[in-house]
Amino acid sequence: MNQIDFKEFHWMVSMINSIDAGLIVLDNDYVIESWNGFMYHHSNIHAADAKGKNIFDIFQDLDKSWFMRKVEAVKTIQNQSFITWEQKPYIFPFKNYRPITGTVEHMYQNVTILPLPSLTGSIDQICLIIYDVTDIAANRMELQKANGQLEKLTKTDPLTQIDNRNGLAVNVDLANKRYKMQQTVSSLVMLDIDHFKQINDTHGHPAGDAILQQLAAIIKESMRENDSVARYGGEEFAIILHNTTSDKASHFVERLRKAIEDTEFTFQETVIKVTISFGIAQISTKGGDNKAWMEAADKALYQAKRQGRNQGVVYESMD
Ligand code: GH3
Ligand code: MG
Ligand code: MG
Repeated sequence: MNQIDFKEFHWMVSMINSIDAGLIVLDNDYVIESWNGFMYHHSNIHAADAKGKNIFDIFQDLDKSWFMRKVEAVKTIQNQSFITWEQKPYIFPFKNYRPITGTVEHMYQNVTILPLPSLTGSIDQICLIIYDVTDIAANRMELQKANGQLEKLTKTDPLTQIDNRNGLAVNVDLANKRYKMQQTVSSLVMLDIDHFKQINDTHGHPAGDAILQQLAAIIKESMRENDSVARYGGEEFAIILHNTTSDKASHFVERLRKAIEDTEFTFQETVIKVTISFGIAQISTKGGDNKAWMEAADKALYQAKRQGRNQGVVYESMD
């Protein structure tokens, strides 16, 4: 090594020690040959103490068989490989000290495994490069959380906290997909409060709102866990009953109709009686088309209104 090379080598060591990424060199027996400043700062183990030790003795929670598989693959294909924080949040259990992402406990890491060929071409060493990606990971997770909340908001009716028209569209679509893929028959029930305008006019709009909330709760209680309910209009609700023929749906509707008829809705001190009309359509009627399915249930509902309200009508039984 001439004078220039030696100087450069000296700088290199200094740079490697202060770079903001972890560097570890391992030999064929997973014994540590090199350990830079980043590793010392985050593990509190000096290079002098780490060198000569087996990596699995230092990081006892490291998944040995998984890690060895990764390293051996790198040696075999003689090409580097990457492990991202999305695959595995971290490989080395370092604490997160960054103030911006203070709520995150562990350092999230991206890790590169690099083969280090010897002068003869054999791979007797590999290098691990560890990047602290806590900021990126924490931001991404925050964003995902915010998106999830936003999606929920756009699907939720603020008055009743059940799905709104958007939520209904998603659920109708899901039911149709399930029908096409698994031939699972569902029924759609559309319901509309009878003479609701009159109720508002008599007891006031806030009383009407209270009825809508109580009604949503009654419907939710009456359904099974996989069923779904949405408020898709002012005093209009839709229920999707999974694995349910129109015949069974009709029995469900009759129980619900009776329960609502018998319920004493209350607003402040006033008891208010409510009845409801229902339209029922089984999914197979229109071959799994969202719009047609909803129109079928809506037509049946209209028929129920025309026949005198406070009743359910099944779409097939019309015409
Ligand atoms: P029908 O039996 O034919 O359904 O008669 P209806 O009076 O219920 O029907 P209509 O569609 O004429 O009236 C619906 C009423 O629902 C009108 C509107 O004031 C009321 N409404 C719609 N949204 C809300 C709401 O969010 N809160 C309250 N309190 N009332 C609402
Ligand atoms: Mg209406
Ligand atoms: Mg109405």
